[in-house]
Amino acid sequence: MIVKIEVNSKVIKAQKGETIMSALKANGIKIPSICSMKDFTPTGACRMCVVEVEGSQGLVPSCSQPVNEWMKIKTHSPQVIKARKTIVELLLSNHPDDCLYCVRNGSCELQALAEELNVRERRIMGRKNKYKLDHSSPSIVRDPSKCILCGRCVRVCDEKLSVFAIDFVNRGNRTIIGTAYNKDLNFSSCINCGQCIMVCPTAALFEKDSLPELEDALHNPEKTVLVQYAPSVGVTLAEEFGVKPGKDISGLINAVLKKIGFERIFDTSFAADISVMEMTSELLARKNKKENMPLLTSCCPAWVKYVEQLYPDLLPFLSNTKSPQQILGSVLKSYYPEISGIAAGSIYSVAVAPCTAKKFEAQREEMTKKGISEVDLVLTTRELAKLIKLYGIDMNQIEPEIADDPYGMRSSAGKLFGVSGGVTEAVIRTMPHVSGAREPSRVKYQELRGGKGKKEAEIRIGKTTYRFAVVSGLSNVLPLLEDIKAGKCEYDFVEVMACMGGCINGGGQPVGSDENAVKARMKALYSIDEREIIRFSHKNPKVNELYNNHLGGLPGEKCKSLFHTTYSARKVLL
Ligand code: SF4
Ligand code: SF4
Repeated sequence: MIVKIEVNSKVIKAQKGETIMSALKANGIKIPSICSMKDFTPTGACRMCVVEVEGSQGLVPSCSQPVNEWMKIKTHSPQVIKARKTIVELLLSNHPDDCLYCVRNGSCELQALAEELNVRERRIMGRKNKYKLDHSSPSIVRDPSKCILCGRCVRVCDEKLSVFAIDFVNRGNRTIIGTAYNKDLNFSSCINCGQCIMVCPTAALFEKDSLPELEDALHNPEKTVLVQYAPSVGVTLAEEFGVKPGKDISGLINAVLKKIGFERIFDTSFAADISVMEMTSELLARKNKKENMPLLTSCCPAWVKYVEQLYPDLLPFLSNTKSPQQILGSVLKSYYPEISGIAAGSIYSVAVAPCTAKKFEAQREEMTKKGISEVDLVLTTRELAKLIKLYGIDMNQIEPEIADDPYGMRSSAGKLFGVSGGVTEAVIRTMPHVSGAREPSRVKYQELRGGKGKKEAEIRIGKTTYRFAVVSGLSNVLPLLEDIKAGKCEYDFVEVMACMGGCINGGGQPVGSDENAVKARMKALYSIDEREIIRFSHKNPKVNELYNNHLGGLPGEKCKSLFHTTYSARKVLL
């Protein structure tokens, strides 16, 4: 039902029951807020979004107050501006004030609010926050001194991920965001997903900086630095350079990585094609034996850690196929030296990933051979953007190039790994080939696409009907996990990605992206698939060359040693 309200002396229309903030937004009036987030119940805790409502005592938080017919609202009266400005001044009163050295300089919401509200002098003096930095996690750095206690990180970790790694600890002016027993993050149940970084308005949370180590490697004459970049990075990196979401710049990424000095540029989607071959064969074998069904995907390292910590009983259900990043890392340090003439010992393998958990995955003991990591260093999409800026490369002045042979070639099925549902579509496309059944008439599985937290499909391949489920956002997987535990799950294959929408919305992607950006990224990956000639992993000629020339076919002992792993229960402080 539509109601009329009066805003700044003008009549506007609103939906009955919607909040004042939402009605104002729909009418082009932006109200600042620190604690509110789309799709989360508003709390009105930060009071930054206050407005004047005629007849109300005091100012009203617009994020939680619903509109009423003929409500009279003032959004930017002197009283409102003064209240908002005082909140920012209070937040700044104990802030470290090191903006020039801060990782979020230029993208900090607190900085932007101070500018927007014309804060030009320090009127409120407080004691500066001084907390030690928490560097314990391989992925995330915490700087509690910069925390403004908005609570967004806590809510995303609890409500979207059901991890509950962080919370408010202490009281009054000693309140901080901490972990269980206030220990370092590494001891907590944190799964390194980085979704808290994505919502943090300041630099209280940020990814571990891998650029100094990369610089050392790039300038070390004894190292040959090879790089792979993940399927989703091609459709998100451009946003860091002010381009609207949804632009595929994979060709430019190849060119820019060469300019920076990487010796060879490879596409992780190639390894996603291998992952499809391996996972499909694993699925069919388990289905035949009626063993450990459903098969749970394991390409998302945050999800794998979640199972290790909270559902160790379900570890046998996880696929033992490594993630594409680790598969390519493994190939680059084993077979690639044979065909390239590059000394194995000199190879320094870098991966650009959409995800902070990939930094954790690369340093797992299971991902090493004789103490040597398959992947030496992981950069996020954001870090790659910083590297490009550091090298002074003008993205508008370079021409696209192709990735290097042989691991630059991919099918678009491999590319779909960047989006929730993509792994499943890729596996379905390859199942008839591996099982010897007739190819189905369709390539596209619309029911597995889109932004829903859970999607399903039932597909007949040969004489067998298979049931697939796709879940993104870990809180959506809980009912399914309980069903598996109770032996009630009817699916054969379950794809799980920790982040909503999959890697295109990973914790290493550009910050400040909204659901429209995620939709545009999704669309970009699907349109790459529409245009592609090779849309099946098993039709990638370079994948077949690798299986025929080196691996001795599928499945085999060599595949097992290079592409498969095991996971085990992990103890954390809860
Ligand atoms: S990285 Fe993910 S799991 Fe860890 S604290 Fe942040 S949101 Fe929670
Ligand atoms: S760490 Fe960041 S997101 Fe979390 S409460 Fe502090 S400022 Fe907010």
